[in-house]
Amino acid sequence: MVCSGGHAMSLSLGIKDRWRCCKKGCMKTVYLRKNTYLENSKISFSTIVLFIYSWVNEYTSIKFCEKELENDHSTTVDWNNYMRGCIIKQYIAPGTGFQLNI
Ligand SMILES: [Zn+2]
Repeated sequence: MVCSGGHAMSLSLGIKDRWRCCKKGCMKTVYLRKNTYLENSKISFSTIVLFIYSWVNEYTSIKFCEKELENDHSTTVDWNNYMRGCIIKQYIAPGTGFQLNI
């Protein structure tokens, strides 16, 4: 990743999830959550990645998410619905005749 000035950036995950330019005097910053569904969320990226991996492999039952991700029932339902919505929005365009059974 490079900043708008063409300098190398480093990734920082933790308190502030961001890409930051390494060049002194530039230090441009790109926040990973800004203008995304996660902007006001405090969920760690590792948890998000684990959920997406689990969802793709059809492991995201209520029981699994409670045990492995420490999600409550409603969060698990919300995340599953959100993932389903993303797939529908991304891959099913009106008028294509393509259907996805979810
Ligand atoms: Zn820079």
